[in-house]
Parts: sequence; structure tokens; C-alpha cells
Amino acid sequence: MRSKLTGVGDSIFSEMTLAATTHGALNLAQGFPEFGPPDRLRLALAESMRLPVHQYAPMPGLLSLRSGVSNDFSGHPDPVSEVTIVPGATVGIFVAIQAFVHPGDEVVLLEPAYDSYAPAVRLAGGIPVPVPLAFDPLTGFSVDFDRLQSAFSSKTRAILVNTPHNPTGIVWSAADWQKLALIWPSDNALLLSDEVYYTMVFDGSSHVSAWSVEALRHRALVFTSFGKTFHATGWKMGAVIASDALTQEFRKVYQFVAFSAHTPSQHAFSVMFTEHPQFSSTLAAFYEKKRQILLDALHGTGCRALPCAGAYFVVVDTSDWLETDNDRSLAHRMTESAKVASLPLSPFFSSPFSSRLLRLCFAKEDATLREAGERIRMWRNTH
Ligand code: PMP
Ligand code: GLN
Repeated sequence: MRSKLTGVGDSIFSEMTLAATTHGALNLAQGFPEFGPPDRLRLALAESMRLPVHQYAPMPGLLSLRSGVSNDFSGHPDPVSEVTIVPGATVGIFVAIQAFVHPGDEVVLLEPAYDSYAPAVRLAGGIPVPVPLAFDPLTGFSVDFDRLQSAFSSKTRAILVNTPHNPTGIVWSAADWQKLALIWPSDNALLLSDEVYYTMVFDGSSHVSAWSVEALRHRALVFTSFGKTFHATGWKMGAVIASDALTQEFRKVYQFVAFSAHTPSQHAFSVMFTEHPQFSSTLAAFYEKKRQILLDALHGTGCRALPCAGAYFVVVDTSDWLETDNDRSLAHRMTESAKVASLPLSPFFSSPFSSRLLRLCFAKEDATLREAGERIRMWRNTH
């Protein structure tokens, strides 16, 4: 068989979750909450079973849900012409790439990059152009705008940005967006902005969406995920926000991919947005507390946490452990011996990246985070 997608195996998320299950380890590897969705959302889904919401939703989504998304999102996109409901951000990003990237087009990605981006570009016949984030062992990762600019060419069709960023936790400020606008490659280029963690920005800062930047809005497609916002990653639903013109082109392709997303869940999310419009604004404080619990729990383990400004991951530098194996094998050994699963960072890069960095997800119960720190500490102390 001639594979269309060569060099791709099971994702690192599946690999480490399998390892966690096999060894009975705490799973701080895969990014999903250990807790479930709010009661009102669960109840609304149960209630939907008695309502006439079992057939196809309108292709762009229930209007009540699109209005909820619009109210929740800065800049309030028009629910009719600028918001589309999709079965998860992964689908939204995939469809956008199929809709806009032509064979031979280049798509600039910042690495470490989420695993679905490059395969989606390749399947469209496009060429992923990876640009590494700058890395400083003390201050962590940051965008190097000179490097970004040098990756632009006349073939650049899209730039894929993720803020807050998985796995590094960096967030784009208004000044960062302005820098991007200043070096923008051409009128032909689009901005694909993965903002699935938009509700999780810490330390008093706020999320700055590409949609709120005047100079970029008309070129941008923004992706959100209700899975992240409502602790319901398994419900697979999210929204794509873009100008009327880009939305029309996006929907043209989307109607042949899924046509529409699960109607009862759309109803439930719509109830949640309507009755609890403040819910998403509580998440930053909720997760900031968990970030602190994890950071406290890591004291005495000998690993050093890099700054985390957003999303629900902390990256730790384990160089001081002086182990000789690579991050992937270290993550496996820690899963087996300490019974704590983490995610190595190297699979987020297309070329070898040799730092000894592990990602820990803190969307877990407080007791789990404390226990994880304790287990790592004991493991290190018996080394
Ligand atoms: N983008 C990033 C950066 C993610 O971390 C995830 C996480 N799962 C997704 C997209 C996919 O979101 P969804 O589950 O809604 O497809
Ligand atoms: N986004 C999640 C993470 O980063 C995992 C998603 C998946 O398993 N595909 O861990």
C-alpha cells in the first residue's frame, strides 16, 4: 500500500497514556481533566434526550450556541456569518488547512508544535515550514520574530500560531501580534490561530486573540474547543471564528467533512453558555491554583519548572538529574519506576531536540498533583 502519510505512528499522547495504564501510573502525560464537566452541562445533555434535538443541526451549528460563543469571545464575532460549530478544534484546523492550502503552499509552524498540524498540511499537499521557538534554560521558550520572518517566502500561505501554547505555556501579547503584523509576508497569507486554551491565562494577564487585532482579523481563522473550556474533551466540539468571506470558504469544505456536529451536545453547550455566561472566566483562577499546587509538589524533586503563563501544562527541565537517556526513554522510565507519566517534548519537534524537558498536565485533582510530586521525589531520592 502506498501510504499518504509516511513517518507517522501512534501519537505520543496515546503512547504515554498506554504506558500509564500498563504501569498503573498517575497520568500527567495526556492533556485532559481528571474531573468532569459542570453539573448543569451534564444535566442539559440529559434533558436534551427529551427534546427534538436528534436530527442534523444546521450545517454551521445551532444559532443559540453560535450566539453563546460570540458572547464569550472577545470582539464578539457575528454568530450568523463568523462562527461555525465543528466536532472539535482538531477537525476545525484540519478543514481550514484543506480549504485554504494548495499543493506546494508553505505553512509556517512554531515548534514545539501540536501533533496534528504538520500531517494536516502534508495531506493538503502543502509544505510545513517549522520555526523553533527560542529556548533559554532559565527563562524558557519565546517567539523569535527574526527567525519567523526569515521563514516567510512568496509561497507562505499560512502561519499557524497557538496561544496559550501547548506544550510550553507561552502566550501571545498584543505587542507580539503587532510584531507579527509588521513582518506579515503577503496579502495571500492567512493566520490560523489555535486558541483552545483561551480561558487559561494566568498572573493577571488576559488572553489576546488574533480576532481582537485589527491588522490581522480579516486574515485570521481562530479555533476554540469546548472540551477545554468545559472539562469535556471527550465531547469533541468547538468553534471556528473567521470573517464572513473566510467562513464561507471554510464552510464550503466543512459541509463535506462532517456536515454538522452532534446536535444534543450543541443544545447542552448552548444552555451552559446562556445560563452560566461567567463560567469560562472562572477557569484562569481555577487552573492557576492547580499550577501552584503542582509547582509546590515539585519542590525537592530536583527538576526545575519553566515559566507557564497559560494552558494547563508545566514543562520541567530535568537536566540536573544527570540521566543519560533521552527525554522519551526518561519519561517511560519515570512512568514505570515512579508511577508518574509525563510527556517528553522531543516529539513536538520535526528535527532532533535534545533538551531533557518533560511536560506535566495539571488539569488533575489537587491530591493527584501532590501525590505525583511525592512519587517523583521518592523516586529521585532512591536513585
Ligand atoms: N490544539 C491544541 C493546542 C490542543 O492542545 C488540542 C488538544 N487536545 C487541540 C488543538 C484539539 O482540540 P479538540 O479536542 O477540540 O479537537
Ligand atoms: N491535546 C492533548 C494534549 O496535548 C491530547 C490530545 C490527544 O490525545 N490527541 O495532551
